[in-house]
Amino acid sequence: QAKLFSRGKVQYFKASLRQAAKDRIELLTGLREAFSSERLFLYYQPQIDLRTRRVIGAEALLRWRNQHGEFIPPDRFIPLAEQSGTIIPIGAWVLRTACAQLKQLIDLGYSDFRMAVNVSYAQFREPDFVDVLTKVINEACVPAQQLEIELTESIAIEDPISINQTLSAIRALGIKVAMDDFGTGYSSLSVLNKLRIDRLKIDRAFVADVSPVATDGNLARVIIHLAKDFQLSVIAEGIETESQLNELIKMGCDEGQGYFIAKPMDAKTFVDWLMADAK
Ligand code: C2E
Ligand code: MG
Ligand code: MG
Ligand code: MG
Repeated sequence: QAKLFSRGKVQYFKASLRQAAKDRIELLTGLREAFSSERLFLYYQPQIDLRTRRVIGAEALLRWRNQHGEFIPPDRFIPLAEQSGTIIPIGAWVLRTACAQLKQLIDLGYSDFRMAVNVSYAQFREPDFVDVLTKVINEACVPAQQLEIELTESIAIEDPISINQTLSAIRALGIKVAMDDFGTGYSSLSVLNKLRIDRLKIDRAFVADVSPVATDGNLARVIIHLAKDFQLSVIAEGIETESQLNELIKMGCDEGQGYFIAKPMDAKTFVDWLMADAK
């Protein structure tokens, strides 16, 4: 009788599971350590009005640099931070830091600058999330209208009634809400009907498909039209070429960000970049 698994393979499988668990614990310990020793910081990527090419704001992106000076990508540590709850204090720190940066920019004369901050569903669903937001904007002395939170569609899988209660409270404060990575979740279309948001953010996978030759079946175009129908503003992420930028303008996209415009930069480089741009 043929055996499905040899004992050796089972052992190997267990060993690799054990290794994976060990890696996760090490990563999480490292993250907590980095947070307490201030080795987490924010990068800022400009967002522009596509037609005027004027900078209207920036997205704050979390960065972790370990003791060896290497960057650990957010896609590796954010899911872990979400599962472990560490995202709650880290996320509050991200909000405070981004708002302090916003205040500095306003004081430098960028009076209507908008700061976009990614918020995990784990943060959003905390009963005191709206209080945290209120406190952050008050302490930073920034207008709520100039803060935007980016949520992913995954929130729409959860109970839309309680989500809308929180969204309404956030928007009553004046804070804007964008739906990040739009089009990649299961629930894209029902999001539009169910949730009260201000802006759709086209996922960069669809922006990569934008080209002057591909005329039909273009999802970026579909999303832009959807946004217009629902009277939402629309921003494209991951614009890497001038041709993508031009096509998005033709499709009626309002705003954009991406390597073609500028990569995410540390705070000082970002402010220098902004000032150089103004000439
Ligand atoms: P996201 O919010 O969709 O952010 C956009 C990602 O695309 C960023 O990756 C950005 O660096 C990258 N990007 C920007 N322009 C281009 C481009 O032209 N081409 C390409 N290929 N990529 C581009 P990053 O910084 O690695 O962040 C990855 C994800 O991690 C973010 O996706 C967001 O979901 C999450 N994240 C980042 N910071 C935070 C945070 O403070 N809190 C939470 N909860 N999540 C965060
Ligand atoms: Mg984002
Ligand atoms: Mg995105
Ligand atoms: Mg993303």
